[in-house]
Amino acid sequence: MTTPNGNHMHTVDLETMKLREQVFEYARRRMNYDPPPLDGPKTISELRAAVPATVTEEGMGGIEALSLFENVLAEATISNDHPNYLSFIPCAPTEAATLFDLIVSASTIYGGSWMEGAGAVYAENQVLEWLATEAGMPEGAGGVFVQGGTLGNLSALVAARHTAKEALLATGKSLPARWRFACSSEAHSSLKAAARVMDVDIVPVPVNAEGRLTGEALEKTLEGDWDGIFAVVATGGTTNFGIVDELEAVGKVTKAHNVWFHVDGAYGIAAMLAPTTKHLFAGVALADSFIVDPHKWLFAPFDACALVYRDPELGRVTHTQHAEYLDALENPEEWNPSDYAYNLTRRPRGLPLWFSLATYGVAAYREAIEQNIQLAYKIANEIRRRPDLDLVRDPQLSVVVFTKKGWKLEDYTRWSNKLLADGIGFVVPSSHKGEPNTRFAIVNPRTSYESLVEILDTMV
Ligand SMILES: *Cc1c(COP(=O)(O)O)cnc(C)c1O
Repeated sequence: MTTPNGNHMHTVDLETMKLREQVFEYARRRMNYDPPPLDGPKTISELRAAVPATVTEEGMGGIEALSLFENVLAEATISNDHPNYLSFIPCAPTEAATLFDLIVSASTIYGGSWMEGAGAVYAENQVLEWLATEAGMPEGAGGVFVQGGTLGNLSALVAARHTAKEALLATGKSLPARWRFACSSEAHSSLKAAARVMDVDIVPVPVNAEGRLTGEALEKTLEGDWDGIFAVVATGGTTNFGIVDELEAVGKVTKAHNVWFHVDGAYGIAAMLAPTTKHLFAGVALADSFIVDPHKWLFAPFDACALVYRDPELGRVTHTQHAEYLDALENPEEWNPSDYAYNLTRRPRGLPLWFSLATYGVAAYREAIEQNIQLAYKIANEIRRRPDLDLVRDPQLSVVVFTKKGWKLEDYTRWSNKLLADGIGFVVPSSHKGEPNTRFAIVNPRTSYESLVEILDTMV
């Protein structure tokens, strides 16, 4: 048999055919759930009792393994795309993005080099270019889709330090005893992880009453001592509260001191697409690099982080791996995604987002994100209205943090466990300044006001 473009198709035996159909059938079934079952974790002893030895010399056969996955293993995972999964930052991929993830898997494209992946890299780069343009970055900005925000932040910071170091060496200046970067005290844990990996120090800058990093606080904290500071990281939407730092003011301070400005927008930069919140992100235009996770609020499946550099060449000289067998790949005309982050082999994980954008158009994204924000503001009003509940902070994006009067951590935990056990929602306790609270992180277009009100009603 041949396909319309002349490729040969192999004839598969009946058993393979059957497995293929069953796998597609399962994928179809999973995608048809409305909503998917929330499910929940099981203990290791429960799983031991329910799951036989699966990795054996003979194998157990695909049909059986698939059935074990569907009926036992999958049920012991929480569906992140359930509309009432409101913990951490959920993941709510579009139909098109999920479908295309299957195609990426079926295509075996090496996404690390232009030589092997040109068509895929070209499409991924269109998405990066679009993100850069939305952020107000100049032409030529670009980067790579890495596995997640943790790796994106690390890769950007390594490029920042490399750039600072080269600048000092080029002018014959001595290197600082310790390298440091500054970020707000509410910045994401991945920055501490990056500092550990890089063996550098963090200068924590206190936030203002609204939870934002400001330009003044940055200046004041450093008190004119910028020695060893190779980057300032501002957050475009904190994970816990969805608070956006004063990006423009912070960016201006970094320019005055000639220091790399990185914006961690893993969750929040998506909100630059929404009319209501666009203005909060004007300062990203000043950034030397930013990240945003499509698996958070750009409706793409796990796992993807778009890392964008204002001047990608600075990322390239930092991260390119050199080896005799890799040198065939180094053609200056060609864009090798591996060169722009701490990674080599990669799947073209930006493609599900590309296909989804191409399918629905950018306007649908703006609308969906705006709708999440309006829902967050609306449920915040309902929380304000209820005498037994208190908003911890006014939401800026789509995270709503609140407390129940008189509740201790045990009360939140008991309530949260029951909510999950009843299959209603996944809303875990959180805390702020040692005080327990809970939060709704809303990034799923299927999350409804009514279901959020129902969840509030269960807090008794
Ligand atoms: C989620 C998040 C990260 C880490 O991203 P991963 O994809 O989980 O590695 C970093 N920064 C912020 C602000 C985040 O919300």
